[in-house]
Amino acid sequence: MITAQVILKPGREKPVKNRHPWIFSGAIKRVEGDPANGDVIDVWNSRARFVARGIYNENSQIRVRLLTWNPNDLIDGDFWRRRLRRAIAGRQALLTSQQTDAFRLVHSEADGLPGLIVDQYGPWLIVQFLSLAVERHRNIIIDILTDLLAPMGIYERSDVDVREQEGLVPVAGPVWGEIPPDLIEILENAHTFLVDIKMGHKTGFYLDQRENRQKVSKYFPDKEILNAFAYTGAFAVYAAHAGARRITNVDSSERMLQMAERNMRRNGFGDREDVYAAADVFEIMRAYENNKWKFDVVILDPPKFAHSKRQVEKATRGYKDINLLGMKLIKPGGVLITFSCSGSVSADLFQKVLFGAAVDAGRHVQIIERLSQGADHPVLLTYPESEYLKGFVCRVW
Ligand code: SAH
Repeated sequence: MITAQVILKPGREKPVKNRHPWIFSGAIKRVEGDPANGDVIDVWNSRARFVARGIYNENSQIRVRLLTWNPNDLIDGDFWRRRLRRAIAGRQALLTSQQTDAFRLVHSEADGLPGLIVDQYGPWLIVQFLSLAVERHRNIIIDILTDLLAPMGIYERSDVDVREQEGLVPVAGPVWGEIPPDLIEILENAHTFLVDIKMGHKTGFYLDQRENRQKVSKYFPDKEILNAFAYTGAFAVYAAHAGARRITNVDSSERMLQMAERNMRRNGFGDREDVYAAADVFEIMRAYENNKWKFDVVILDPPKFAHSKRQVEKATRGYKDINLLGMKLIKPGGVLITFSCSGSVSADLFQKVLFGAAVDAGRHVQIIERLSQGADHPVLLTYPESEYLKGFVCRVW
């Protein structure tokens, strides 16, 4: 029995009916039935008609996370099982792949599971419970995952700040089965990588770039490549495999670069004349420009510059700076492969930033390919915020 209701203000029903999964406090007229944080509640329109069902949390600006628009759906074990099954069914091609054994199984709201991330790394699952809605049901979710996927173990990486916006403390550690080793070996498009699932970024590896790494490999044969924001060398391994002449890897983290070198060795590229530079990308690109050092291909895969809408303006300045510098370093006819993973910077805006950079660099720049996040990171039509990664491949004359 659901005994609490959130009643929407008149005129605020449309996005909810259109299945956007968040209700902000400003859309709510009244709350009835005194729900506790984490309780299942019904959402009614101003005429007291059922619109949706979700989980209530007064600690969050997102007052309700919607789970279903079907009044017959109870939020019970069966419900979570149906949702997890559907997410897994959507990854069937990856689950049976001989080339790849690391990918995202559950992509939060886009899979109808708000705040839940499940990444598979070989026989291990790495999970993030980022909202109270899924935190409250963690035991049943873990039970179902073990039942459906029979992993060797499940490790949690909910050590992220967004948990605090939900009134939850960041946590990390083993949650079920065997404890995974510090470094897990994975296979991605037949390349092997060591992934630091306990200390690495996100759940350890940038799984969302898998398809892009493959797609851009055609630009690498015989080329001099600048791999900026190299992290653990994923683009570098693809580049070496495609026959790149020399790869200059730049990252501010010495530790990540050591992992990048290790990953190169593991794939049989230990005796190449590549460069590993622990430096700030902005500074080193300026130094390369001053020294007139040019590249055939420049890859720019920076961390998220905008964490919210308020940071968009500052972020666009950052994107413009690195892309301007990147364009200047490219030999005529060379290629710029550039990404933004800031959700609040749209593909349109990112394109405008590249336009500004091209004008200031005085270069003739053509978009030759548009890139996005991999198919295991789906974009839900009713939740456009799930689209965050965009990339452009540009020919720079
Ligand atoms: N391309 C990588 C992912 C990049 S993640 C992949 O495919 O796996 C972003 C990386 O940028 C991180 O490794 C971080 O250490 C690095 N970084 C962040 N700011 C930087 C800066 N100003 N200069 C150099 N590296 C930076």
